[in-house]
Amino acid sequence: MIGERLKRARAATGLSMQALGAEVGVSANMIKKYEHDQSMPGSGVLVRLSKALEVRSEYFFRPVKVELTGVEYRKRSNAPRAVLKRIEADVLDQAERWQELANLWPSFPVPQFSLPAMLPSSIGSMDHIDEIADLVRTDWNLGLSPIPDLIDALESHGILVIVTQVDAQATFDGLQASVAGKPVVVVSTNWPGDRQRFTLAHELGHLLLHDRLPAHLDEEKACNRFASAFLVPASALRRQLGEKRHALEVRELYLLKLEYGLSMQGCLYRAADLGIISQTVRERMFISFATQGWRKQEPGQPYRQEITFLFQQLVYRALGEGIIGESKAAELLGIPVFEFHQARKLELLDATAHQ
Ligand SMILES: [Zn+2]
Repeated sequence: MIGERLKRARAATGLSMQALGAEVGVSANMIKKYEHDQSMPGSGVLVRLSKALEVRSEYFFRPVKVELTGVEYRKRSNAPRAVLKRIEADVLDQAERWQELANLWPSFPVPQFSLPAMLPSSIGSMDHIDEIADLVRTDWNLGLSPIPDLIDALESHGILVIVTQVDAQATFDGLQASVAGKPVVVVSTNWPGDRQRFTLAHELGHLLLHDRLPAHLDEEKACNRFASAFLVPASALRRQLGEKRHALEVRELYLLKLEYGLSMQGCLYRAADLGIISQTVRERMFISFATQGWRKQEPGQPYRQEITFLFQQLVYRALGEGIIGESKAAELLGIPVFEFHQARKLELLDATAHQ
């Protein structure tokens, strides 16, 4: 039965039952029957449905297995419901393709995410979170330098990353899902790199800190603190800025952002959290950010965006090992077979987006 998947694909396009029905030549009521599994479309209608909804017809027959969890975007986002629905549909679709890819392997070649062995069972204070961030860096062999590729760092420790293009207005705040027992973090291609990185690190914070925080510490604030501490370790910031400062040059924040991939405002907060500058200095600079319109868009070149390669790499690995054929590979990548064929042969490398 295809009801659930049809409903989701329709949500992703934002079409009403009426509009979809008109496009495929059936009544709105018939679409409703399909969605409630009270009727099954014939093969002709199915082909037209997949065209109208821009999905491959196989899409309707993939079993529904994936659930979104920790949907924190619901409680904070200002995004319209219709946009959230489209994001959710896109994420579920990508998550299911992950699930399907994972199921192909006798043993999925992505490590299991595990908490650092030394992670304490309870966390006492915000300052304690700095130690947790350092602990993860040690556990992951990241040293104290900037993390140039955060997605790669997460993926190589068993956290899958889904990048959605749906969020045109950049309105949601990241969300988590779980696929094949692995945590998944979602970010948008419409965000600058520093915002993607903050969200990735913030969600890692949830995985580490959830159930370990005392009642007086707000989990969202704690995860924000973790994110900035993970991106810019305390010792690194003290080395860059000094132990105590009476004022900061705004260009210092800019250089820190370019080096560590944490926003200028994030670096400003971090300097105040660590007592390098006073809260008064932070507030003064923050007001100056606001008056110059830098709160929403910071000056200068944005930090480069994060890219994920893992899914594509695993599809080609499965193909290379003969686990799947071209048609399944194309389906997993969500592109037509002829396009996949060109991509596989590295044809049109400069001309197409699917490289
Ligand atoms: Zn959160």
